[in-house]
Amino acid sequence: MLDQSSQWYKLQYPECFVDEEARMVQKTFADFADKEIMPVRDKIDDDLTHEEIITPILKKIQVGLGGQKAMIPEEYGGLGAGSILTAALKQEQLGRADYGISMHCACTDWVWTPVFIAHMAPLPQEAKAWAKAVFTEFAPKFTGSELAVGCFNMSETESATDVENPLNEGRTIGVRAKLEGNEWVINGSKFWASNSGIADLNCVVCNMDPKQGIDAFALIYVPEPWPGVSHGKFEVKCGMQGDRNTSTYFDNVRVPKEWGLQGPLAWAIYKNTLAGPMAMNSGHATGILQGAFDVLLDYTGERVAGGKPIRQHLHAAMILGEMASVITVSRSAFLELAHQFDHQEIYGAWDSVSMLAKGHAVHVFITTKLPELILKGIELMGSYGYVRENHYEKYYRDSVEAKLVLGGAHYGYFLTCKQFYDLDFSAFGPGKLPQPA
Ligand SMILES: Cc1cc2nc3c(=O)[nH]c(=O)nc-3n(C[C@H](O)[C@H](O)[C@H](O)COP(=O)(O)OP(=O)(O)OC[C@H]3O[C@@H](n4cnc5c(N)ncnc54)[C@H](O)[C@@H]3O)c2cc1C
Repeated sequence: MLDQSSQWYKLQYPECFVDEEARMVQKTFADFADKEIMPVRDKIDDDLTHEEIITPILKKIQVGLGGQKAMIPEEYGGLGAGSILTAALKQEQLGRADYGISMHCACTDWVWTPVFIAHMAPLPQEAKAWAKAVFTEFAPKFTGSELAVGCFNMSETESATDVENPLNEGRTIGVRAKLEGNEWVINGSKFWASNSGIADLNCVVCNMDPKQGIDAFALIYVPEPWPGVSHGKFEVKCGMQGDRNTSTYFDNVRVPKEWGLQGPLAWAIYKNTLAGPMAMNSGHATGILQGAFDVLLDYTGERVAGGKPIRQHLHAAMILGEMASVITVSRSAFLELAHQFDHQEIYGAWDSVSMLAKGHAVHVFITTKLPELILKGIELMGSYGYVRENHYEKYYRDSVEAKLVLGGAHYGYFLTCKQFYDLDFSAFGPGKLPQPA
């Protein structure tokens, strides 16, 4: 249980970052994780149909606690919850219990992020009209009493990092959109996106003509089921069963023109949509490490080896102390980052070179430390650590994934270097791809 009155809590979540409202949300999700997810966390990855454990839990979070309407503005029946810090605290608590569940919820938030930005930020009327059309059409499903799922559908089979990479200006995007009268017509395929195959709503990242790069870039909302949209099989992953991933095929998919936004305005919103999750996934990752640490602390306190509880041996204390130290630094870093994302008026735009460098620097630090430390810790549990019902091995499986998403750790380092020198990591140029003809 998260004891918000302890001195350690106050030192970990300082008042300068975490206000009363954020603390309440954090406590709600912490208690939910302890009561509803922790007792079944070893069974989640074996719930292949999602019917027994995963969907009932998701329904409680997304409908019962209002998760699926968090990013919908109040005038459309949602909670209008735009605080990155609160969202990161929530993801930390869910990630502490199960990263797949946590990722599922975060990605429904993600589908709304582009129109939330369009709605909230001081942007031209075109963006406002797009946000209005999308919220009016799709918010009712997400503010109702049934589980509704969102998918930010960007990645593609031929390298997803290249699609994210701003230096490529959308030129590697394979999914084509064209305007025919009052409709968008979409063709091509996507791969990997969280919640793909079970989503009620996709935000699809398209290009109308790769030669034109940003000018032909488009973000288009596509609901499901919908004529021309189909999927492959669900991927069988190392862990994270709570998060579904598959291909999405678009075969002459037609949607109304007002569900899409094109050109530099859409590109600017896209870049911000990619920057937004840095603090959230850093929160997830910190939660994963905290979850593993808690298991290890308990187990090594009870298990006797070499004549005393394992954690009384100094080699064990070295590992536990190192984990606690990384958790402390990671938490400080993601809270500070989230605070800075919440105050663009002071720290600059999310998609500025410096903010991207800061966001990725923090994200890469936490996500790359995770698997290394959790793997070190497993030795203290001996064979018991390798067994599902002892709750530890899942954190290792989950941790590996945290450093692969959002372009992966290497891409994160490239964007960090951009703050200091003009590093070229685009897909085009001598010895690389030719510019699209
Ligand atoms: C569980 C899970 C959830 C996901 N959720 C989503 C989602 O919700 N939406 C979505 O759209 N996608 C999602 N993804 C996809 C994810 O974002 C991509 O997998 C990720 O961006 C990496 O892309 P990739 O796997 O194609 O690797 P690649 O792009 O092939 O990159 C592999 C490696 O190539 C190297 N590399 C990449 N770019 C460069 C460069 N410019 N220069 C030099 N080296 C380079 C790096 O070493 C990199 O790690 C998810 C993936 C998983 C596994």
